[in-house]
Amino acid sequence: MSSADIHTAYLSLGSNLGDRHATMCRAIDLLGREVGTVDRQSAMLETEPWGFQSANKFLNMCVRVLTPLSPQQLLAATQGIERELGRMSKSVDGHYHDRPIDIDILMYDDLHINTPELTLPHPLMKERDFVMIPLREIYG
Ligand code: ADP
Ligand code: MG
Repeated sequence: MSSADIHTAYLSLGSNLGDRHATMCRAIDLLGREVGTVDRQSAMLETEPWGFQSANKFLNMCVRVLTPLSPQQLLAATQGIERELGRMSKSVDGHYHDRPIDIDILMYDDLHINTPELTLPHPLMKERDFVMIPLREIYG
């Protein structure tokens, strides 16, 4: 496969249920197996829940992954990893809740798309310190 077939994606990972650190590490391991090469990862930071009330704080981080997958394949893969790590339900109409893992795609190359399933770049990333602080560590 030539390097032209490899895409650069930035992902945001978050967890506020269970053994958060272990779940994030398992997610990175699964990304490496199922998505591509995780070549950069930020530190994990602890943050307050955003957009909903919960006693459970989040761990958040960002990773960069080099992947042959298309955006749609990447979304399917990250959602599969979310399910594998025990995520039961998804947010509906902006109603958030506790979750063992959330994986959002922040950017995919320089692609701009806006479909019901996938918006890139992620529309809320610039409003979220828990995304931008770890992203700045690894971006470039
Ligand atoms: P949130 O991340 O806001 O808590 P979910 O993880 O439950 O919400 O995702 C809800 C839906 O958002 C997913 O089913 C997915 O199709 C859609 N979505 C749109 N754009 C993106 C993106 N850039 N990354 C991840 N999911 C996205
Ligand atoms: Mg999500």
